[in-house]
Amino acid sequence: MLHIKNGTLVTGTGLEYASLWIRDGRIEQIGGELPETEAIDASGMLVFPGFIDAHTHLQMDTGATRTADSFETGTAAALSGGTTAIIDFATQERDKTLREAYETWSGRATGHCSCDWGLHMAVTGWNSGTRRDLESMARTGVTSLKAYMAYDSLRISDSDLRSLMEAGRELGLIVGVHCELGDEVNRRVRGLLSQGYTQPRYHPLSRPAEVEALAVRRALQLAREAGAPLWVVHLSTGSGLEEIRAARKAGQRVLVETCPQYLTLNDDVYGRDGFEGAKFVCSPPLRGEEDRQALLGALSSGEIDIISTDHCSFNFAGGKDLGRDDFSRIPNGLPGIEHRPMLVWTACGLKPENMVKVLSENPARVFGLYPRKGALLPGSDADLVIWDPAGARVITANDQVQNVDYTPWEGFMASGSPRQVLLGGELCAVNGRVIRSGRGRYLPRLAVW
Ligand SMILES: [Zn+2]
Repeated sequence: MLHIKNGTLVTGTGLEYASLWIRDGRIEQIGGELPETEAIDASGMLVFPGFIDAHTHLQMDTGATRTADSFETGTAAALSGGTTAIIDFATQERDKTLREAYETWSGRATGHCSCDWGLHMAVTGWNSGTRRDLESMARTGVTSLKAYMAYDSLRISDSDLRSLMEAGRELGLIVGVHCELGDEVNRRVRGLLSQGYTQPRYHPLSRPAEVEALAVRRALQLAREAGAPLWVVHLSTGSGLEEIRAARKAGQRVLVETCPQYLTLNDDVYGRDGFEGAKFVCSPPLRGEEDRQALLGALSSGEIDIISTDHCSFNFAGGKDLGRDDFSRIPNGLPGIEHRPMLVWTACGLKPENMVKVLSENPARVFGLYPRKGALLPGSDADLVIWDPAGARVITANDQVQNVDYTPWEGFMASGSPRQVLLGGELCAVNGRVIRSGRGRYLPRLAVW
């Protein structure tokens, strides 16, 4: 039996110095003595359940270009950084069914992933067949949905969103919403471009904080009318947070997600020379320092449930370039799947027992994976991160695993890092390098809402 010895186990309830025993890919026992066939010495290390990134976009075609990371490269990058499971977004095409979207994404991922993977379903059209399709999705283990209020090619109307939330409530599926008011964004983009404001620095002006806050308010209202819980994806503003606080106070169930970029960077980066600001173009955009501080405060008070990356990588050369003469043509998205644990460890001021909640335990619980994932319990998958709390590392594009030509955190000094990563009881990554790839399995999930 594989023995992880001398380590400090980290769960949401606290730290425990104990042995961990692994058999057939699962945790067999915590503490005590069992026959040892192999051992990993975790002296001075923290032992976390594998981290889960519940918001990624891999191998996606935007029409104009495609993401730099495939399932193969993206999940290898995830694993190297300590993320042992991802949940990616299958996106319905308007004239196709949810089942077709599932088959497409599942086809791209199956057999190519180095960490375990599941799928959410982004719904871009509501019709008489959608509800039946949702039932079938739930049976396939796709138990969370997403809708967009912005992006003309993806967004659905408020009444369709309400219908989706009602169906979700009946089936136990949570609906995540990309909260930006699409009409407001479109109007601002047109206005800026017509005045000749084409550089990346105008991207955040086209979608200011109130465009998110008003959308959060609207989404909360629709969820209330539908009697459904709401998952606010990638929250970026203090004003949006205030809307959520008020709703929670009134008894509404709201799942709040933010991302490392909103916690560690601010909108100063858009003022960088030349076209450099394009590297940070994502939606919602990076915000002012006050918003960043508001989110950090909410994180430390436990109001943020999960930190995911929204990893959506585009190369600077040949991708972001498309918007050289028009910021609205810069493909939206940042890479982060590889570096999230180091960023959160270093920059967010969380105790280990709180970090494990937002990176592993909570995502497992809210997306129907607990206690198979997100826990150090007998019977849980032996996905482990043996974390060196003093393992300094500098983030740089030169030696990253993700297949993209830059990182938003170039030169960031991480103060702790993953030393070993185990997936299903097998040592798969060491010091940021993948040593076993392609072992990721599909994760069907339970409907828990
Ligand atoms: Zn996203």
